[in-house]
Amino acid sequence: MRPPVFRPPGWRERKPWQLQDGRKDRRKRGRAGMRDRAQVLAEEPFCRLCLAAGLHVRATVVDHIIPLAWGGSDERWNKQALCTACHDAKSAAERKNGPPADIARRLAKLKADWLASTS
Ligand SMILES: [Zn+2]
Repeated sequence: MRPPVFRPPGWRERKPWQLQDGRKDRRKRGRAGMRDRAQVLAEEPFCRLCLAAGLHVRATVVDHIIPLAWGGSDERWNKQALCTACHDAKSAAERKNGPPADIARRLAKLKADWLASTS
């Protein structure tokens, strides 16, 4: 027989996929999430993808470069500011194509590049 398990108030059973990354990698919700989004947009006022094409378009959306559903992180290095059009196009392409085969390598490179640029 198993000993009784303590459940804090508000505890709900979670499905395995809801536990995959541990707390620090899950999307921040509520106030913390709003502060994070505002911070990214303050740091990157223009859409990163448009900027790469030489266009200055005001960013309005904070995007996860590697989607959380694909194991992406909710940390700063996996976030970029985009305009709505780029975000919609990126999301559509992600839905259509699914995760790339080298996703783990891409994720590692994103983090390494970010750490190199901020040190
Ligand atoms: Zn754009």
